[in-house]
Amino acid sequence: MSEQSVQLNLSQIQQNIRAACDSANRSVEEVKIIGVTKYVSTERAQEAISAGVVHLGENRDDGFLKKWDAISNQATWHFIGTLQSKKVKNIIDKVDYIHSLDRKSLAEEIHKRAEKIIKCFIQVNVSGEDSKHGLMPEEVPGFVKKLSDFHNIQIVGLMTMAPFTEEEKVLRNCFRGLKSLQQEIQSMNLPFAPCTELSMGMSNDYKIAIEEGATFVRIGSALVGNEQ
Ligand SMILES: *Cc1c(COP(=O)(O)O)cnc(C)c1O
Repeated sequence: MSEQSVQLNLSQIQQNIRAACDSANRSVEEVKIIGVTKYVSTERAQEAISAGVVHLGENRDDGFLKKWDAISNQATWHFIGTLQSKKVKNIIDKVDYIHSLDRKSLAEEIHKRAEKIIKCFIQVNVSGEDSKHGLMPEEVPGFVKKLSDFHNIQIVGLMTMAPFTEEEKVLRNCFRGLKSLQQEIQSMNLPFAPCTELSMGMSNDYKIAIEEGATFVRIGSALVGNEQ
């Protein structure tokens, strides 16, 4: 199967992002694309960098390290998958953002191992599906308050994965729920939790996510393809 160039995919995605920003009266500068390279080779990830993608995301420590070894300082690195505490030490000196903070024990481990401030998103299970990781929305304010002693962690925002559906209303509700929670946390005015960012939207739903306020969209298959 021949693959379309990342450059071409990227320009289509950028067009869609522009349209979504226009319809929501937002500026395109507010939205950053994280190229999710977990399905693809290091060469394909490199192609994304050459096309102008700045942020790369991986969801497993082994995949992360493989791409990092080849690309390292050419990208800003996002860890977007469920993170076992024992894996933290493998990635902590290489990662810029962790999107999957969902428990105090993980925060403790990140704080202990980090040698710089790690920007973290709290993962929220807005849709309440059993299969999804993340805190329930009502748990988030209390959880944030417990992080004040972990000086190596900055809560930059919230992250969610929407339900796997084409139903626009369900998706919008999910993204709106995350946005309203983000505003609630931001208004707590905690110095370690500015919480200005929203990591939401993937290949199938990023346009809706942007209309609802996403500042980071995590795009894999639509950008680099899916080699599986
Ligand atoms: C794989 C993955 C993505 C990207 O998925 P696509 O549908 O291919 O865009 C985004 N976020 C997370 C957490 C993922 O694991």
